[in-house]
Amino acid sequence: MKRGFLNTSKAKKQVDQPVLAQPDKNKTELTKLSHGVVPEAGFLPKGYQSPKIMIVETNPKNLDHSPDSYIFTTVPPMATGVNLVDAPGGWTECCISGHVKRVIYETPGFPRVPLSPPNGKSYRIGKADGKGLGMFATRPIRAGDLILDERPLLVCPNGLTIGSLLSLDILDTTALSDEQQRQIILHEWGKHIKIACDRMLPGNRKAFMELFNSHEHDGTGEIIGRIRTNGIQCNLKERPGAPLAYAAIYKDISRINHCCGPNAMWKWHINSFSLRIYATRDVGVGEEVTCAYCDTMAAAAERAASLAPYGIIPCKCSPSCSDEAKSKIADERRARFRSTPIVLKPPVAPPKAGKAKDGWAQPAIKLLQEMEEEGLEGTVPYAQTALQLFQVYSFLQDIEKALFYGYKMENMVKIENGEMPTAEVVKANNHYKSGGRWQTGLRVNVSFT
Ligand SMILES: [Zn+2]
Repeated sequence: MKRGFLNTSKAKKQVDQPVLAQPDKNKTELTKLSHGVVPEAGFLPKGYQSPKIMIVETNPKNLDHSPDSYIFTTVPPMATGVNLVDAPGGWTECCISGHVKRVIYETPGFPRVPLSPPNGKSYRIGKADGKGLGMFATRPIRAGDLILDERPLLVCPNGLTIGSLLSLDILDTTALSDEQQRQIILHEWGKHIKIACDRMLPGNRKAFMELFNSHEHDGTGEIIGRIRTNGIQCNLKERPGAPLAYAAIYKDISRINHCCGPNAMWKWHINSFSLRIYATRDVGVGEEVTCAYCDTMAAAAERAASLAPYGIIPCKCSPSCSDEAKSKIADERRARFRSTPIVLKPPVAPPKAGKAKDGWAQPAIKLLQEMEEEGLEGTVPYAQTALQLFQVYSFLQDIEKALFYGYKMENMVKIENGEMPTAEVVKANNHYKSGGRWQTGLRVNVSFT
């Protein structure tokens, strides 16, 4: 079972995470919440009394909280009565630990205003066939372009542990099934997060409640149902050993639909407390902007299991998902992509007369084309393969082809680093040479000149 934070290479939602810490001390595994139709939906033990939540009002800028207590606060801090006109980028209602609050405030540059796309707004929210609403390009968007940078409406833990209830001595779980315990968790989780929702501006709360809820029959309440359906894992560094991660809900970003070969990806930035959406390939006018809710490199069956809690049953995003024969080919390809990079070795002797100089690079060229056919431009193996080809053609002193592959790689570097200005790839050689993660796939013994 995967837990913890993931880097952008997998761009997962990963909100519907395990939340039930078993009371049995020998059993440290966490169990996933149920979805679909759950017969025990809404179960609470007879005479069940909810623990009281203690609320103490403090200065929003106060960082002197116990690291493991949870705080309801706005990020960045806002005085009462401020409206959105006075606060560019808005603010987020948060339920976070004292530790995380300190991490946020101590981040260099916090709180900077979210970025504005250089050429203005490039999307609209509109009806998407069979998927409710979606995001659509209103003008051509180029690979690597920032589409939007948005602060969440809400950030909260992606669950609650049964341990936190046990510690209050209100619950004897020995007579309860796992599902019954999960129902209590859902009840308490919803009750806690309602406090943060009630603090939202009316317009934001309305936008939140208008989001789709795919958890109407499993005992999840209307607030948590929307978090489980639309939440995106928020890369906030929790204290070591903390059982829970964080989920974030956005007004516009949460409208972006899933695709297993998406044309956009997200990247969290803590200093602006916002999520940036970048195009991973060119997007045409009217085309839907999509991101991945699962690991795009995983096989179809694994992707299907990750997507079910979001109500995507089955995924019909492309023939690689809906057509059995094509899905088999796509699985075989992805297995190869995961084992990249291909080891390219420059020939020891110059090619014979009439033979192409770059014949030895063909396996990588083919691999990159296949990744593009599967829509996997936003992945690390894609960037690694593009880097290899950039280096191959630099080695062969074929500047045109070096730039062709260099630009493909540069989009990923821009997204990863956030604010690197677009620069000629060749001029940026030093940047690529020093980037450790981009070198991990390097197997070609070529030198930069
Ligand atoms: Zn799909």
